[in-house]
Amino acid sequence: MRALVREAGVLRLVEVETPRALADDEVLLRIELAGLCRTDCQVAEGRLGGGVTRRILGHEVAGVVVDRGPAAMGVEVGARVSVDPRIRCGACEACLLGQDCLAPRFLGVDVDGGFADYLRVPAASAVVAPLGLDLRAVAYIEPIAATLAILEAGIRRGERGAIFGRGRIAALAARILALHGFPAILLHDPRQDPPLAPGSLDFAVEAGIEEGTLAAMVRALRPRGRIVLKSRAIEALALEPMALIRRELRIAAAYYGSFAAAADLAGDPRLDLEPLWAEPRPLSAFAEVFAEAARGEGRKLFFSLVEADA
Ligand SMILES: [Zn+2]
Ligand SMILES: [Zn+2]
Repeated sequence: MRALVREAGVLRLVEVETPRALADDEVLLRIELAGLCRTDCQVAEGRLGGGVTRRILGHEVAGVVVDRGPAAMGVEVGARVSVDPRIRCGACEACLLGQDCLAPRFLGVDVDGGFADYLRVPAASAVVAPLGLDLRAVAYIEPIAATLAILEAGIRRGERGAIFGRGRIAALAARILALHGFPAILLHDPRQDPPLAPGSLDFAVEAGIEEGTLAAMVRALRPRGRIVLKSRAIEALALEPMALIRRELRIAAAYYGSFAAAADLAGDPRLDLEPLWAEPRPLSAFAEVFAEAARGEGRKLFFSLVEADA
């Protein structure tokens, strides 16, 4: 099968062996479409998931189940699915108790991912998509689930909040919050907009940390206000503890909300997702697609794996 790998420090489209001999609880997906996100760029740049000789990238997938192990529960051959990219180890104390794995491996970073014709994952990681959903919406279930995590970061309806950032991730966060009881959420670009009044916010969500973003959030929060970290920055943050302590600010980190809820939301016309998406391109165009992603956060970029690869 074709696979987009990082190998010896560069991205390459190569032929690799199609996964077979599934474990009892695994399913095999024929990938139809996959979204490119910042995490993939960080892997491509060698800033994440280093130390392996060859890794297939990609974690935002839409695919069809084409095979399953005898103990693969909850998903049938022929189902169209996306994937929760946190692959459980299956062996730790929490896994054995059916709780969140203590050391999940991330698809496309720690284990081979979905920029390939086929992908094997535990059946428990598959997220069944509603029938008839646009393929891009299926692949977009993961970013939606990541955004739903904001709602579980201790914010409450009626509170005054703002999203700090700009671009697609900030826009998606604003739309999802508006649908969930935060109609007046403010989209604030600290680089361009005048500073918010000190103490005017109950919570502040970052959707991309640039120089000065955190300090601007801290200034705008009321005492005991809440900072929500959303954007998965991998660099260390400069934060002055006393600025937090004096006003007892809280920090909450948002990773993933419910994938089932995200699957339901992905087709919701109120989210108006289409303007956030670019036209899918073939995997063979990976070099220009990654270069476009590196230039900044524009529309969501997708690879189509089912069209003829020009
Ligand atoms: Zn992603
Ligand atoms: Zn585990």
